[in-house]
Amino acid sequence: MLINNSSLSRSLLLFATLVLIGISCSSSDEFTGFSYDPEGATVTTDKEIQDQHKRIIGVNDRSIWISNEFLGARMSNFYQVNDTLYRVVIEPENHPINGSPWYAFKIWSDTSRTIDLQLSYKHADHRYVPKLSTNGQQWRTIDTTNYRPDTLNGTATLSLELHQDPLWVSAQELFTNKDFKHWADSLATRSWVSLDTVGYSHDRRPVTKITINQTDSTEKHGVLIITGRLHPPEVTGGLASKFFINQLVSDSSIAAKFRQEFEIWAYPFANPDGVQRGHWRHNAAGVDLNRDWKAFNQPETQAIRDDLLSLQDDSLRKVYYGIDFHSTNENIFYPIKKNISTFPEDFTYGWIDSLKTKFPNYPIEVEPFDTSSPITKNWIYHTFGADAVTYEINDAANRDSLQTVTKKSAHIIMQQLLKAKQKAERVE
Ligand SMILES: [Zn+2]
Repeated sequence: MLINNSSLSRSLLLFATLVLIGISCSSSDEFTGFSYDPEGATVTTDKEIQDQHKRIIGVNDRSIWISNEFLGARMSNFYQVNDTLYRVVIEPENHPINGSPWYAFKIWSDTSRTIDLQLSYKHADHRYVPKLSTNGQQWRTIDTTNYRPDTLNGTATLSLELHQDPLWVSAQELFTNKDFKHWADSLATRSWVSLDTVGYSHDRRPVTKITINQTDSTEKHGVLIITGRLHPPEVTGGLASKFFINQLVSDSSIAAKFRQEFEIWAYPFANPDGVQRGHWRHNAAGVDLNRDWKAFNQPETQAIRDDLLSLQDDSLRKVYYGIDFHSTNENIFYPIKKNISTFPEDFTYGWIDSLKTKFPNYPIEVEPFDTSSPITKNWIYHTFGADAVTYEINDAANRDSLQTVTKKSAHIIMQQLLKAKQKAERVE
C-alpha cells in the first residue's frame, strides 16, 4: 500500500494525539478539542459567520407561511416537497461546529390543515425533540405519534396541525435575553441582590453579573462563582442555573446563613448575542466561548475574566467553588480529577455523593477530567486554586424533576461550602 506524505503525517498526528490523550496532556500542550469538537472548532479568534436572513416565506400558492422574525429564531429556508410534505432547512452560524442544531420558527396556514414538516440540517443531524407553543410562552413537547426522527438521514418529520394563528416550533422552550432580564430584575428587588454590567458583547449587549451578598464586608468570606449559557441552545442548563440561583436568593434558613458567609458572583447569561441570534453554539464572532478561557480573544470571556480577577488580591474574599452550567444528552458532572489538588479538596465528589443518596433513581453520571482544556472551570481552578465543576443537564430532562434536583443540589452545596469554610478557618 502506498502512503503519501500527507497521509503519513496525518497518521503520525493521529498517533501523537492518541499518545497525548493516553497520558493526559499537560497544560502547556495546545488544546485540540474534546472528542466531540470538530477540527478547528476550538480556535477562538474571530471567524466569519453567515447572518440569518430574517423573513417570512409563503409556499403552496402563498397559503402556508413560516417566519423567523423573532428573537432566538433560526430557520434558513422553507420548501413545499409535495402535496402534504414540506421541508424546513436549518443552517448554523458557521462551521466547523458542534452538533447542537438549534431551530425556532413560527408556522401557520390560511386554512386549517395537517401537514408533514421535515426538519433538515446542514452540518449536523437532528437532535432536539420539538417543543410547541401557541403563544411563545407556554410550551409542550410534541406528541411522539406526531414525531418521526430519521437517524439514518439526520432529519425528523413532524405532523402538525396548522391554523391561521401561528404555531411556534422550537428545539427547546425559548429563554431569551428578555426572559433573562425579567428574571434578573425580579431577583434584584431583594436588598441582597445587585445587577451590574461587566462588559459588552460584539453586538453591544450587556454581559450581566448578578451579585448576591449579605456578608459583613469587613470579615473574611467565601466566594461562589457561577457561569452559564455560554452555549445558546443549552436551555436546560440555563434553567438549572436559574433554579439554583433562586435557591441562593431565597428566604430559606440555609440560604440566609450562606449569604452571611459567602458572596455569589454569577454570570448566568454569558452569550447574549448567540441566544438572540438563534445560534447553535457560538457568539457573534462565530467562536465557542467555552474554548476561550486561555486565549481570551472574545469580549464576553474577557469581561467575565476581568471582573473575576479583582478577587485575586483580595485578602477578605476567597474563592471556594465554581459552577459552569451546560446541557448535553445526559445528566453528567465533569469534576476535576482527584489526583489534582484543589481547595476545598474533592469538593465536587462530596456533594454529588450526597445528591445521589438523596435521589438514588435519578440518573447522574460523573466523568472526571484533567485541567488542561481552555474551559471556564479550568480557568477558575488555575486562577484561584479552587475546585470547580461543569454541571451538564440532559436536554430532555423532565422540567419538574430538573427543578427538584437542582433545588436539592443548591441546598447540599450551600451546606457543604459552609462546612468547608468552617474547616478551613479552624486550620487557620
Ligand atoms: Zn455547553
